[in-house]
Amino acid sequence: MSFQVVPSSTQEYVLIQITDTHLLEQPEQEFVGMNPEQSFHQVMAHIQKHYPHVDAIIHTGDLAQAPKPKTYQRYLQFMQQFGIPFFHTPGNHDDEKYFPFHGEHPQQPILIELGNWRIILLNSAVSNRVDGFISTQQLEQLTNLLEQHQAYPTILACHHHPFEMHSKWIDQHKLKNSQAIFDLLERFKQVKAILYGHVHQNSSNFWQHIECLSSPSTSVQFKPCSDQFALDVLTPGYRVLKLKINGEFETQVQRLEQINYSINTEISGY
Ligand SMILES: [Zn+2]
Repeated sequence: MSFQVVPSSTQEYVLIQITDTHLLEQPEQEFVGMNPEQSFHQVMAHIQKHYPHVDAIIHTGDLAQAPKPKTYQRYLQFMQQFGIPFFHTPGNHDDEKYFPFHGEHPQQPILIELGNWRIILLNSAVSNRVDGFISTQQLEQLTNLLEQHQAYPTILACHHHPFEMHSKWIDQHKLKNSQAIFDLLERFKQVKAILYGHVHQNSSNFWQHIECLSSPSTSVQFKPCSDQFALDVLTPGYRVLKLKINGEFETQVQRLEQINYSINTEISGY
């Protein structure tokens, strides 16, 4: 499944990553002391205010905490109003039965052509599991796509983290076959970055020349380097990537300046 996005500039393209919205069935419901619908809307307002020319938005999963048809329907309706092409891939909290996949098959990579850049979304979610795995079928299709698009700088994205975060509880839920991806990427030098969510925190790691980046959630944040589940008091955020024509990119994380609720950091899981 592939999509062509017409960029608003010929100089650089603005790509936004949002992740882990964890939307509930009812928009007024709270989750660990906060309202995820509200913080997600505040994040979108922040994006609109600070980045008037966004070329595409990708959501790296855990769109829903309550993965019901109406939750997904509300998300799609809300996102359509911005007039910005938006794409999504599922996380462990999503339900394959109701997730609004772009293609006909859940195990099909999504290719987004944005000017001379290529963005490929992979599905790392496995039904009834918290950790991640990218199917052999997807890896084969990914290989074909990378072969066909060798001349174009490329970004890969999925839900699960391919790198350990030095946080015991979350590292048992990482992408289990990240080595298969890295083995494959030895052959394709055009891949510049891998984006993911799941860990609800900002991080950057390098594998050879590839920058591997996680992004804050638009809802609650997890405390970095904690062996047990722990929430952080940092505000919700998102990642901005400026993709340049020459194949280089710049990235930064943005967060809401303030939030008008207090998170219950005493809870022991979610
Ligand atoms: Zn999540």
